[in-house]
Order: sequence, then C-alpha cells, then structure tokens
Amino acid sequence: MVIQQNRKDLKDKAASISYMREEQVPSPSWTGRYFAMFVNHSEMKNKADLATERDIGVTSEGEKITSSLGSVIHDHIGSNRPFPEDIVGCIIFRISRAVPFKGASATWFVDNGFSVYWSGRLDDIPDYVTSQISGDHEHFVAQPTASGLGSPYYSFTSCEEVGEVLIPSLGKTVGELSEKDLPDLFIEVDIDTFHVEDGDGEQMPWVDTFHCISCSEIIHDDDDSNGYCGKCYCPEPAHPAPEDVNYADLYEEWGGERKRQL
Ligand SMILES: [Zn+2]
Repeated sequence: MVIQQNRKDLKDKAASISYMREEQVPSPSWTGRYFAMFVNHSEMKNKADLATERDIGVTSEGEKITSSLGSVIHDHIGSNRPFPEDIVGCIIFRISRAVPFKGASATWFVDNGFSVYWSGRLDDIPDYVTSQISGDHEHFVAQPTASGLGSPYYSFTSCEEVGEVLIPSLGKTVGELSEKDLPDLFIEVDIDTFHVEDGDGEQMPWVDTFHCISCSEIIHDDDDSNGYCGKCYCPEPAHPAPEDVNYADLYEEWGGERKRQL
C-alpha cells in the first residue's frame, strides 16, 4: 500500500518537474569501477516497450516535434536487494540471457551503462527521476537524465562479447558462470576485458560505444554525427529526431538545446 502511494506521488512529481540540468545535480566522485547486474530478460524488454510517440522538441516556428525513438528515459534502475553501499560513483550495466527468436540458441544481451549518482529506497528517490517507475522494486539507483554512458535513452542489444567479460574476484568470465550463479548476480567486472564488435566487425572498447537509436546496433561514439549506422543506415544514429530536423530544436533530455516550457 505504501508503495502504491509513493508511485502516485512520483507520477505527480514527474508531471510537475521538467528536465533538471545536469549541472544542478551534484556529481559524485567517479571511481572508475564497473558492475554487471544480471536481470531477467523481461526487465529489459518491458522497459524498452515503454517507448511511445511523444513530444521531444519544438521548432523555431513553434511546431511540435514528435518521435517514438529514444522516448524511454534511463534515469533509474530498481532491484529487490539493496545495492552495495559504495555504489555511488560507479557504472552499472545490466545483462540478461535469452533466446532472441524461436529456435535460436540463448544469447547475451546488454543495456546501456548507467552512472550511479544516488542509491537508496523508493521513498527517497531524487526529484530528477521523472520517468515512470514500473515493477515492485524497493531499492533504486538514479542518474539525472542524459548522464548515462553513451546515451540518455534506454536501449538494449544482443551482445555475445558479454560472455568474455572477466570477473576478477572469481577469476572467471561471465560466460563461465553456471546458470544457477546468474540470477541476482551483481558483481564488479574488469571493464578492460569488455570489447565489442560493430556491424563491420571492428573491435572497440564497450565503454566507447552507444546503441543506434533505430536498430540498437553497437556503434563507436565517434560515428555519431559524422557517420551513419552500418546496420540500418540511419543518419545520426544517436538522435531521436525524424530526418531533416534541427537537433538543437530537441529538448535537453534528448540531447538538444530547448528547455521544456511547462
Ligand atoms: Zn541502426
């Protein structure tokens, strides 16, 4: 019952608070530590499925810009268990394992990296968390909008290289863990062992990548505005705007310069 009430408060809060600029939120001291969090694949899918056509900016002529791309803001992660006390200042990426389509074998998935600014219980969640909280988690970490690793919006993608990531405390890779080790896995990893391949087979450190907003292909940061997605060929794969839109006209939470008027 308490949780229900809090959710309603959060919804009201989301309706009344516009995007909070990153510089208004104190930045933690970054530790350079990375954690992998194993979740049920439905956690990723359900979050990505929240995408809906919405207002993402306004042109200088006052016309609304709408898009369903990048409309899921990644500002919180929930868990049934408390996060470690020293998690603030670390990066979390979530991994899951699932069959991508009927008849295929199971593959790894990864979502975009999350920079932990705050950790605590649902009751105390900071004002800059404006996206809807779904599920019945009690413990949360939060980041201000647009402060995540690589992109402000939520996405996940299949990624076989997850299995090669080393867990120094166990002396094993993620792929060497047994099925029974995986549920509830939350563990520090050696990020230097996480290399991924783009659609052209080019190797790059995972931390230097983001997901194409149209097809979730893994792309190097440098191939954002000066490149195109090698898989779906969309131009400017980090931007949710329809073609021919001036990106500066997007609201700040989608990487533009416009402030949302309430
Ligand atoms: Zn693409």
